[in-house]
Amino acid sequence: MYYHKEVINKRPTHYVDGKQEAISRIIMGEQIGRKLTSGELVHHINKDTRDNRIENLMVVTRGQHKKIHDSIGMKTRLQKKYFFDKDELIGLYHDDPRVYKIAEVYNCNEMTIERALRIFLNCNSLKKYKKEKGLRYKSKNRMEA
Ligand SMILES: [Zn+2]
Repeated sequence: MYYHKEVINKRPTHYVDGKQEAISRIIMGEQIGRKLTSGELVHHINKDTRDNRIENLMVVTRGQHKKIHDSIGMKTRLQKKYFFDKDELIGLYHDDPRVYKIAEVYNCNEMTIERALRIFLNCNSLKKYKKEKGLRYKSKNRMEA
């Protein structure tokens, strides 16, 4: 039987209701009466990420979160879990802005790549960034006009 290479390499993924959501975000969302945006993070004040009592939670922006964690010498979840070379990741994205393709390169999920890119590019929306920079996937099959 013949399988296309891309099909073999594509990692199977699993989604719950289409998305994975942290308990702390759900609790904070209920507290403020709306869903948190992708630019909003929930920081655990006493550093214990299992302690989701409301008094231990704090909504922060990505920038604020990085500052807090730098000042207490604690790595953020992303810094702890994944180490990407900033220039390499941005280079891949500029070459081909299809996030799922980059996720295949690193064998991790798309959300991880998206998060890392948003941090490295210092933007809240990749879509917006892509549009501003005029990035698009250039099909090799298409002939140059
Ligand atoms: Zn935090």
